[in-house]
Amino acid sequence: MFRSLKIKEPNIEIMTTKTNSTTVENHDSMFDAVIARLDVAAKIYGLSDDVTTILRNPQKQVKVSLPVMMDDGKLQVFEGFRTVHSTVLGPSKGGIRYAMDVCDDEVKALSAWMTFKCAVANLPYGGAKGGIKCDPRKMSIGELERLTKAYTVALADVFGPTTDIPAPDMGTSGREMAWLVEAYNKVHRGNFPGVTTGKPVGLGGSLGRDAATGRGVMVATLAALKKMNLNAKDVTCAVQGFGNVGSHAARLLHEQGIKICAIGDHTATIWNENGIDIKAALNYVKENGNVLKGFTGGDEIKAAELLTANVDVLVPAALQNVITEEIAHHIKAKLIIEGANGPTTPEADAILQDKKVIVVPDILANGGGVTVSYFEWVQNNAGYYWPEDEVNAKHDASMNLAFESVWNNGQQYKTTMRIGAYITALKKVELGIKARGNF
Ligand code: GLU
Repeated sequence: MFRSLKIKEPNIEIMTTKTNSTTVENHDSMFDAVIARLDVAAKIYGLSDDVTTILRNPQKQVKVSLPVMMDDGKLQVFEGFRTVHSTVLGPSKGGIRYAMDVCDDEVKALSAWMTFKCAVANLPYGGAKGGIKCDPRKMSIGELERLTKAYTVALADVFGPTTDIPAPDMGTSGREMAWLVEAYNKVHRGNFPGVTTGKPVGLGGSLGRDAATGRGVMVATLAALKKMNLNAKDVTCAVQGFGNVGSHAARLLHEQGIKICAIGDHTATIWNENGIDIKAALNYVKENGNVLKGFTGGDEIKAAELLTANVDVLVPAALQNVITEEIAHHIKAKLIIEGANGPTTPEADAILQDKKVIVVPDILANGGGVTVSYFEWVQNNAGYYWPEDEVNAKHDASMNLAFESVWNNGQQYKTTMRIGAYITALKKVELGIKARGNF
């Protein structure tokens, strides 16, 4: 039964249903958090136990040791990971992250999200994720190049343009992808630009790929505002993270007339109730070693205050697990667009659901990156490159389509957009699993 719900301001009226509970058990493991949501979605949708069991177990998990000669002449051995969660819908796809907290559990969780993200975005891909436990900010360019090439050589039989296709993620960029292709080409003696995506333009990269995740966040925000009968020009927004996702998202949302009142990165969080000059912030970051610290376009506030700021839209575009149970109680935004992977804990989800906050989940909201990765791979395979307008137009159409399916599944199954997104993905993966049959 549909009923009309008024949220705070009188002009915000959306259609919603009495929603099914999505409460999940408490847990420490990120992968368990994914499984908990999978189980909730599977139950609401009615997924068979067999398919649920297949999806609860990643297809392949590889751990490698990477000895690298450091600049000081000492050898350091790094841990590298790659998990292929599923190849049911096509070659596995997913980024490589460089960070100190990279571990088996995190990579497994992120790989499963990639399976669902690619399915939601209608891409002919499965899901994977990789990472190296390292602190890229403390390493020289030479050390990072040797580490990336060592990782690629160690995984040269896992990666491949038709098998498992990496991309950038936290701590990596086009630079690392160019090194990866180079090492892969040397091992396999050829030219394989489609072995990875997110490459620099000119080395097989696609126009529009760099800004794609931020662009997807912008398109998803506009689509959600439309459902809420809100006009972009009347809403305020806070963006957490000013890296590849957050900075492009803030810029593009600002271009749409949304007032960005808070931005933040790992060095500083800035608040300006009259709206931050995003162009000035971008220039500042460019000239000051990629950090916001010292930017004077607003007042500096505590990092945690950004999440509970008095704004209409919150875009967590940095780390996972930042919207906890505790924070969720204090959130004032009525719309959350998850630019990061896994920014909201399952416990916080339940609170936000009770508060009628609309959460556009990560596996939909940040799917713009992998969507344009797919376009890059298509261009690599065809050897024919598209103008940026064409990439952006195809991206926007794809994101709007994905948004509609998720929204409709959420409404049909009387659940949240997150579980609606899982159901959207499960329907496709289930079809693939059933059509392929078993051993
Ligand atoms: N790392 C990005 C993500 O989490 C992009 C993945 C890709 O392009 O394969 O979605």
